[in-house]
Amino acid sequence: MQDHHSPLFETYARAPLAFERGEGVWIETTDGRRFLDFSGGIAVNLLGHAHPRLVEALKSQAEKLWHTSNLFEIPGQRRLAERLVAATFADRAFFTNSGAEALECAIKTARRYHYVNGAPERFRILTFEGAFHGRTLATIAAGGQAKYLEGFGPKVEGFDQLPFGDHDALREAAARPDVAAILIEPIQGEGGIRSVPPQCLVGLRELCDEHGILLIYDEVQTGVGRTGRFYAYEHSGAAPDIMASAKGIGGGFPMGVCLATAEAARGMTPGTHGTTYGGNPLAMAVGNAVLDVVLEDGFLEEVRRKALFFKQSLASLIDRYPDVIEAIRGEGLLIGLKMKVPNTDMIAALRTEGMLAAPAGDNVVRLLPPLTITEEEIRAGMERIENAAASLSPVTRRASA
Ligand SMILES: *Cc1c(COP(=O)(O)O)cnc(C)c1O
Repeated sequence: MQDHHSPLFETYARAPLAFERGEGVWIETTDGRRFLDFSGGIAVNLLGHAHPRLVEALKSQAEKLWHTSNLFEIPGQRRLAERLVAATFADRAFFTNSGAEALECAIKTARRYHYVNGAPERFRILTFEGAFHGRTLATIAAGGQAKYLEGFGPKVEGFDQLPFGDHDALREAAARPDVAAILIEPIQGEGGIRSVPPQCLVGLRELCDEHGILLIYDEVQTGVGRTGRFYAYEHSGAAPDIMASAKGIGGGFPMGVCLATAEAARGMTPGTHGTTYGGNPLAMAVGNAVLDVVLEDGFLEEVRRKALFFKQSLASLIDRYPDVIEAIRGEGLLIGLKMKVPNTDMIAALRTEGMLAAPAGDNVVRLLPPLTITEEEIRAGMERIENAAASLSPVTRRASA
């Protein structure tokens, strides 16, 4: 229900919960109710709430320097870029404040690449139905979803959506002479945790090379260990030319990054792009602290082990409630429950049980626990998920009636 007395834009249908503090996977409301947080601030709170090392990094930087602007050298920015470059396919980084801005940078980088190569007519970007790339004018055009485009004037030119998984349509489109890049999420997040099979990413890579097209990954949701690898593309081995990352990279501090090979970034010369806040000392201090944890020896291995345990527990739950949950999707700790009942009913039932989860398209409930979650906490989550499923199951409802 809308609260017409609120001075805020009425853009959100908010749950009637306000939180005051959190610790790890736990979060507490202003009136003292505790919830297990598997919504993770929509895949943002990578290391849970109030992680001591992030708190320490933010506090100590806050006492020194917050912001200087990109008119000057920012040592923390250079350090974080060097670490991201060392850990990925990339040679260059551009820091932003959000996922959509990282995508804007990726799109501009791809277009400029062809422009400086003497092919300015190559500016179109191929994207996929069900994709989500953000809410700016360019990124709603990239996503192509009618519900986000409606009423906002002419759609930004140069984005063509292809059906998900239609290889013939893709081959035909990639052969057009005006294509600059293919943009894809290795796993569609908002679209319902729909994975692109690894061999399809390999095929995409080959198709791009064949036609001189750049491959852009949107890893805003899948990046920084969420899927059990530093970036999700590692599961396939098919590296992109350009990649957008955000959400988990700041662990709750608003930041993003566009990564690219030196070749793909060659059009981004002085003066072509910029940002006031992007990569400021405060954000970089937190970003570096996130990497300190995620890149520690054995951390991602442990994420994969815990994810396997969680998935196996969920699989046995489906066996018991096939009329409530249809399938488990996702990779690592980016998990989707494809529901038989409305996903909003399941999210409400989970909340009653003291657990938060996030919705996604295609009638999916997203479970996005912090990568630091323990097996014990996964068990506590499973108990709540089981109770919620039981409360929605026609069988158990009949038995208890
Ligand atoms: C959340 C998201 C975005 C947009 O990020 P914002 O920080 O909200 O601008 C883009 N792409 C994907 C895959 C996302 O999940």
